[in-house]
Amino acid sequence: RWDSIRGAGTRDEHPRTIFDEILARRIPSDKVYEDDLCYAFRDINPVAPTHILLIPKQRDGLIGLGAATAEHEAILGHLMVTAAAIAKKEGLNDFRLVTNSGPGACQSVSHLHLHILGGRQLSWPPG
Ligand code: ADP
Repeated sequence: RWDSIRGAGTRDEHPRTIFDEILARRIPSDKVYEDDLCYAFRDINPVAPTHILLIPKQRDGLIGLGAATAEHEAILGHLMVTAAAIAKKEGLNDFRLVTNSGPGACQSVSHLHLHILGGRQLSWPPG
């Protein structure tokens, strides 16, 4: 049943995460955008006035960007284009797209996600 709704995907044997609960609507989220392939919602602990998470509905082994292969090119491209559209819709002329890959980069949820950050002057380099 898990795989028949939405979620990690049938080719994915990694443990499911809180994002699957969000996709299954078992945990509420502040939805910003959705299509057949991806889902965007506001981060529960925002680090900028606009802080949106964009995730693939089918994780398909993408526990983080470090797991990406050529098979993921289409979904990764779709996420990038969608991130730009969401930023525009949010009225962000300037924004930052971040994905943390691995514990050394402070990734805490093992389901690929793009952080869309904006609404304030962002500093560089990031921490
Ligand atoms: P980090 O937790 O260090 O930012 P990640 O890059 O893995 O690492 O980001 C996970 C993000 O998911 C965090 O920004 C966190 O605030 C967010 N998050 C966790 N649980 C929820 C939730 N239930 N609803 C919205 N955002 C969430």
